[in-house]
Amino acid sequence: MKEKIKQLAGKYAAEFVANRRHLHTNPELSFQEYETQKFVAEQLRTLGLAPQAMANTGLVALLEGKNPSKKVVALRADMDALPILEANDVSYKSTNPGVMHACGHDVHTASLLGVARILTELKDEFEGTVKLVFQPGEELAPGGASMMIREGVLENPTPQGMIGQHVAPQIPVGKIGFREGMYMASTDEIYLTVKGKGGHGAAPELGVDPVLVASHLIVALQQIVSRNRPQNSPSVLSFGRVIANGATNVIPNEVKIDGTFRCMNEIWREEGLRRIQKLAEGLCESMGAECEVRIVRGYPYLENHPELTRRLRAEASEYMGEENIVDLDIWMAGEDFAFYSQVTDSCFYRLGTRNEERGIVSGVHTPTFDVDEHSLEIGAGLMSWLALQELAV
Ligand SMILES: [Zn+2]
Ligand SMILES: [Zn+2]
Repeated sequence: MKEKIKQLAGKYAAEFVANRRHLHTNPELSFQEYETQKFVAEQLRTLGLAPQAMANTGLVALLEGKNPSKKVVALRADMDALPILEANDVSYKSTNPGVMHACGHDVHTASLLGVARILTELKDEFEGTVKLVFQPGEELAPGGASMMIREGVLENPTPQGMIGQHVAPQIPVGKIGFREGMYMASTDEIYLTVKGKGGHGAAPELGVDPVLVASHLIVALQQIVSRNRPQNSPSVLSFGRVIANGATNVIPNEVKIDGTFRCMNEIWREEGLRRIQKLAEGLCESMGAECEVRIVRGYPYLENHPELTRRLRAEASEYMGEENIVDLDIWMAGEDFAFYSQVTDSCFYRLGTRNEERGIVSGVHTPTFDVDEHSLEIGAGLMSWLALQELAV
């Protein structure tokens, strides 16, 4: 079976690249993936599948082998692009100015279409069902994954496992990265407004200086991460935007502090957010100011199911060769695949796309991001192989 899949992946590699280039040329922002959805649906229908729309611009399709109810495995691709002006000079450059597939979601979508191509040709040779999940809006809260789950993507039929892959520009093409257990962070946004009483910079005693209060607050809040976090959860609290719009001789009325709190433990996440709120309010009050705290919930933390991940890693090693499997570090960025990982056995692994010789080294979310397109043949073939291996477990 492994050789059959490799042979099909090679045979259709040019089609995978053409699909990826079509998507790359025509990127759409989160929750606006109308043309992308149409394109993917057409491709799936051509293969004899019956895609269903979900979460407005998402799609789900079932690819049934023999005895389809035996087991179900779900494979996920995200389809949205980013508000970035592409700086690459390539034939498949974005024609939608200011919008770019700079996170490789074009590769994920084209790879999953590739899986559909490969497994349709093999459907008499496996048992069970592969659920193809094309979701919208990974890059934007509340995350397309949360909407897909709410609309029943994990029901009728219920998959026993969920697998997602993501490009990795730091990993050479031909290599695959895995990590068991905690992998990516929860991401919540913190908006603090410290309200004092402004006035002349020469007479601070007549008011309440919110700049000084905010300075204390920024320092004090770090104790939550350094003194309160459980030892088993990496945590980050960063404030990247501090606005005190006074002048050298003007104390402003208020200071705005915006930041992000990230961790890898849902209980601690709640506790940490509660502590941030309490400390901000209490400290400001003790200094005669007030604090307005607004927390915008992001994605949960991403947990790679240990047993499933161990199996997939071994299966990937069989397909790729053990020398091409790398261990991933935890990564404090967020990813809405985490929503699936909170409710079903899930594994999110990384597909190497780097090629230093060809200068393909830019990180995701940059205007010069690109991939070595050989990764498409690997991505589609490997995912097909992993799905069939899992159906056979
Ligand atoms: Zn991204
Ligand atoms: Zn992404």
